[in-house]
Amino acid sequence: MATTTFTKKALGVETVEPALTPPSAKAPPLPKKPKPSGSKSKKRDIPEGLWTKCPKCGTMVYDKELDENLKVCPKCHHHFPISSRERINSLVETCTFEEMDADMTSVDVLNFNGVATYKAKLEEYQKSTTLKDAVITGICKIGMHRAMLGVMDFDFLGGSMGSVVGEKLTRLIERATEKELPVIIISTSGGARMYEGMFSLMQMAKTSAALAYHAQRRLPYISVLTHPTTAGVMASYASLGDLILAEPGAMIGFAGPRVIKDTTQAELPPGFQTAEFLLDRGLIDAIVPRKEMKERLIGYLDFLTAGEKAAVSS
Ligand SMILES: [Zn+2]
Repeated sequence: MATTTFTKKALGVETVEPALTPPSAKAPPLPKKPKPSGSKSKKRDIPEGLWTKCPKCGTMVYDKELDENLKVCPKCHHHFPISSRERINSLVETCTFEEMDADMTSVDVLNFNGVATYKAKLEEYQKSTTLKDAVITGICKIGMHRAMLGVMDFDFLGGSMGSVVGEKLTRLIERATEKELPVIIISTSGGARMYEGMFSLMQMAKTSAALAYHAQRRLPYISVLTHPTTAGVMASYASLGDLILAEPGAMIGFAGPRVIKDTTQAELPPGFQTAEFLLDRGLIDAIVPRKEMKERLIGYLDFLTAGEKAAVSS
């Protein structure tokens, strides 16, 4: 009778093949797992272009939520940069913005040639921003008020003021004077555009002179400073408002802090060149969060044009 024998294996006694065989020194290296295309980013679990990390509080904010919140962090209220078009949409009544001088473009008067030519730079930024230059100007309605509105865009060559920015703003102010309307300019700029040399610097005087004529007619001008507003723009029209408002945390100044520190050889106080620091010292009249900007502008325009309305009705 055939019998089946079983051998009982004692656990841990016989030599078993290890679960993971270490590769011998001679063995060829295991083929690497192919990486999915475009996986150079460290954030492999997060699809690119959907989330943005807040630089202030570190929260990952869903881009759609950020857009709906006017590019303000919902957690810490950090104000992200916002494009000029988005800002106009957030301020004016629907379909009331009529753009002026939309096709005005700069001329390379100096034949500037550095790392890249000025012409090449202009073409590059016109393509990447779909703007012709660093400001959009036009007439609009904010609440019940007709107003002339200029909005700068930092994405176009750092919001620098060349002859186009200067000319478009001057025409905006002159049109306001002619039509007896208030002017609102929302600034963000690294200063004068050095690709245009003296032609960019003279825009400071030109815009300031246009504002002087506007002020002579006792018409209101509200200047809104956003992060960052510096140098030639700050030293001209941005600081000439009857009311000067700023967004929270905006960097505002003339020269950069390093230059000032090197020149004065003095320690700069904490918070130097922020909107909050300048509010304390009286340069700025109010800090207005982006989400309240429209309502506050309407309130200020109500107040600033009250006398004019009273004069008309009497
Ligand atoms: Zn935040």
